[in-house]
Amino acid sequence: VNAASVLVVEDESQIRRFIRTALEGDGCTVHEAANAAAALALAAENSPELVILDLGLPDRDGVEVIRDLRAWSRVPVIILSARAAEDGKIEALDAGADDYLTKPFGVGELLARARALLRRARGNGAALVSFGDIEIDFSLRTITRAGEPVHLTPTEYRLLTVLVTNAGRVLTHRSLLKHVWGPGSVDSNHYLRIYVASLRRKIESDAAQPQHILTEAGVGYRFANE
Ligand code: CA
Repeated sequence: VNAASVLVVEDESQIRRFIRTALEGDGCTVHEAANAAAALALAAENSPELVILDLGLPDRDGVEVIRDLRAWSRVPVIILSARAAEDGKIEALDAGADDYLTKPFGVGELLARARALLRRARGNGAALVSFGDIEIDFSLRTITRAGEPVHLTPTEYRLLTVLVTNAGRVLTHRSLLKHVWGPGSVDSNHYLRIYVASLRRKIESDAAQPQHILTEAGVGYRFANE
């Protein structure tokens, strides 16, 4: 996470300090906010490259902070949620958060998520991308696996494109359905299950142990960019 500037928004000072220590140990510059108002002010002032945001804040709901932020910024946002707050987590992802960590979490997990999002934010817009043995050329619309061409249907290609351009992010079932099949299909979870299964058969070396298209149980999918 070399030299990234990170805004940490959390009202519990102990957790804030834990996150600061972890990020500074990895070379980041950290700004701290203990409530929503300070978070939005610091985000505007410092243009951080990453925001780590607790959903339970004293002055406003974290989801509202994401909506405010998304009105003018595309900065990656990792939310912190309590295990009990499952609905809030999905609402926050649909509002534009990129990933989540469930408390309590470890330093390794925090840094891995932060690195994945910063790598995506810094590397976006390339026409040719590769993940392990998979290579995708967006300008030619071709995919190869270990050098061999992979033939996708138009829907499979659209789904893969949405996953890959958001590599490292968690995409909810709802947002994938909206982007691939359109706003009228957001409740058609079975489409997604069928197409994820067929895409995995084509791009994973073992569809039963996927390394690229990862399942986020009860939430959605994530394309791994490690
Ligand atoms: Ca809190």
